[in-house]
Amino acid sequence: MFRRVLIANRGEIAVRIIRACRELEIETVAVYSVADRDALHVQLATRAVCIGPARAAESYLNQAAILTAAVETGCDAVHPGYGFLSENPDFADLCAKCGLKFIGPSGDVIRQMGSKAAAKALMRRSGVPVVPGSEGAVDLEEARRVADEVGYPVLVKASAGGGGRGMRRVDRPEDLPALFQAAQSEAVACFGNGELYVEKLILHPRHIEFQILADSQGNVIHLGERDCSIQRKNQKLIEESPSRALTPQLREEMGQAAVRAARAAHYESAGTIEFVLDEDRRFYFIEMNTRIQVEHPVTEFVTGLDLMREQLRIAAGLPLSVGQEEVRLSGCAMECRINAEDPREGFRPSPGRVEFLHLPGGPGVRVDTALFGGYQMPPYYDSLCAKVVVWAPTRLEAVRRMRRALEELMIQGMVTTAELCHLILYQPDFVKGQYHTGFLEENLETLMAWDCGTEG
Ligand code: ADP
Ligand code: ADP
Ligand code: MG
Repeated sequence: MFRRVLIANRGEIAVRIIRACRELEIETVAVYSVADRDALHVQLATRAVCIGPARAAESYLNQAAILTAAVETGCDAVHPGYGFLSENPDFADLCAKCGLKFIGPSGDVIRQMGSKAAAKALMRRSGVPVVPGSEGAVDLEEARRVADEVGYPVLVKASAGGGGRGMRRVDRPEDLPALFQAAQSEAVACFGNGELYVEKLILHPRHIEFQILADSQGNVIHLGERDCSIQRKNQKLIEESPSRALTPQLREEMGQAAVRAARAAHYESAGTIEFVLDEDRRFYFIEMNTRIQVEHPVTEFVTGLDLMREQLRIAAGLPLSVGQEEVRLSGCAMECRINAEDPREGFRPSPGRVEFLHLPGGPGVRVDTALFGGYQMPPYYDSLCAKVVVWAPTRLEAVRRMRRALEELMIQGMVTTAELCHLILYQPDFVKGQYHTGFLEENLETLMAWDCGTEG
């Protein structure tokens, strides 16, 4: 096992990695920007190194500064978390060149799956169903041809996309040129890569993703699914496992497809295969995330496994601690993302100072956060400030437990998505588990009005 791991991240995920390392008696080196001097991950790590100014480009994305810190502090591995450099193949390669184990797949694997158009092509060749669309990247003319062929509405998507950005829905042929242009500009601005591809828009889909684990000995297993259909702006807000939309047979089928996908990619580490499921319960691969996922605690609750620990073990060359037959999915787990955002203002980021903090606890409740009383949340980074996760034997109990956990949660000083999540947990269709990725957009106004009603 590693002796000392550098954590190339911040916030709740940096804290999560520190926890796993401590339990494995691995020392941790935190890195931080000037804006994060007082951050929790800095306080909890064995050591901490300042790597630059507030701007992520000069700190958490500054590869030279991070690698220098890792080498100078005698680390033997680097954990990238999610976001930032986690899906940057050049960074993974550079780690290897510096004699540091990158805790994730190889640069080549990240490169292949990081191009969503190329990843789809690989999946198609490997017998994993993909959303009908272009064979690879397209220009406007080719996009028009493909859209005519698969039929409108279509999605124009950035090949390098992530975080729900670089994507445009196109309903009519005459809108294509302008929306193609808009997607391209956004892709260039966000990812420095304007490559686009076209996909049929699946109507009222569920977002169903499978957690997989693959070790260096060639063992590949899946840990069941997460239903992440409660989304705002194509970004997840509430996730749960198991999904109400899957039968045991469909779970088996999708799980096998996910394992096939991971094998085709020669994957190693923890990863996620994302599918959309249409109204006729046909599933289609949309992308692979070659990293630990924000919502991994949901899977940890239903499997009893520690995914961070598995990731560290795999990177250290150890075999998976369980085989597929030993994976038991038990009960129901649910996660609410608490973002410092104002749902009434189009989910505008609303970071502030935490005047008072009370976190929920009790049976079956877990909170992953880097907040503490008095903490000033910097405006430069992700708005995610806490994840409230619950487990219960049945879904209805999980829903009730989540309501009560959110009622206990107090974050004074910032507007967050906690209240909205709480309202969703009372929405009849949500309680029944009948929802698709358009649920939140369709219900937002009603939910907000409902809220005003209870206050007045
Ligand atoms: P998940 O599927 O784990 O929810 P998200 O797509 O929400 O993943 O991304 C997780 C985090 O990583 C978010 O903070 C998001 O802003 C960030 N992120 C995702 N993709 C990219 C990318 N290509 N570049 C930079 N940040 C990204
Ligand atoms: P990102 O890399 O930003 O996470 P994804 O390709 O995973 O992008 O798509 C993000 C979300 O957009 C999905 O969870 C889903 O809600 C929606 N989406 C993506 N592709 C399709 C599609 N072909 N049809 C319908 N919805 C889609
Ligand atoms: Mg995705």
